Amino acid sequence: MIFARGVRKSFGVTEVLKGVDVDVAEGSATCIIGPSGSGKSTFLRCMNHLEKLSGGVILIDGNFVGYDLVGDRLIELKDKLVCQRRAEIGMLFQSFNLFSHMTVMENLIEAPVRVRKINKAEAEADALTLLARVGLGDKVTSYPRELSGGQQQRVAIARALAMKPKALLFDEPTSALDPELVGEVLNVMRDLATSGMTMVVVTHEIAFAREIGDQLIFMDDGVVVEKGDPKEMIENPQSPRTREFLSRVL
Ligand code: ATP
Ligand code: MG
Repeated sequence: MIFARGVRKSFGVTEVLKGVDVDVAEGSATCIIGPSGSGKSTFLRCMNHLEKLSGGVILIDGNFVGYDLVGDRLIELKDKLVCQRRAEIGMLFQSFNLFSHMTVMENLIEAPVRVRKINKAEAEADALTLLARVGLGDKVTSYPRELSGGQQQRVAIARALAMKPKALLFDEPTSALDPELVGEVLNVMRDLATSGMTMVVVTHEIAFAREIGDQLIFMDDGVVVEKGDPKEMIENPQSPRTREFLSRVL
């Protein structure tokens, strides 16, 4: 589903991604761990057209991120097509980024109605199903400020799902939450992983990565140092850098 090869990204003279290769199978969950500044967020942003690659390619569901293959040449996508492709992938952040002046229901139906052109009644029916799925069926008319952080993140996940994404990218979705609220968000993510959603999750929750991940990736200094089965990697890391990182966070 996701195929990244030799992905490079520089900001000015600083090379942040130095040739990243990643494969994510359809319906699988990949967790990415690594020290601060190693390029995890930048890589996620590259997958979702939020950063332009300096080198390499990413294919999602057969489409090049940022480009179309015409004959044997890659042609840069027009902005409108970039937006369309971006809408096919859901992205969740540490900060929940809900529309603060809209109710929970309005947050969920905004993009489906405006971008996907789904009629409002249908979008509302979908939204109710999704809110029930994340355990917030009773918060339809609430505003984000009336919700806890964990509830807001669950609304953000439901909002992403409302676009029927091909995959979901999570960038430290629980890092901004009080410890007692982390579990409710991880429960929703576990349910998604079990239901076969293709997911890439940047996280510090090693136990969670071990439990739900089909693949674990350790990034350091702009490269993938090690990847493999989460349980095997956590129990028996092959690289000294992975071992050192895990000994600090476990
Ligand atoms: P963290 O765990 O702290 O979130 P990360 O692994 O997600 O770290 P990135 O946010 O991808 O790391 O950043 C990698 C490096 O790229 C950092 O040194 C950062 O300062 C730099 N960087 C990221 N975005 C930009 C930007 N827009 N302009 C310049 N430098 C950037
Ligand atoms: Mg980051």
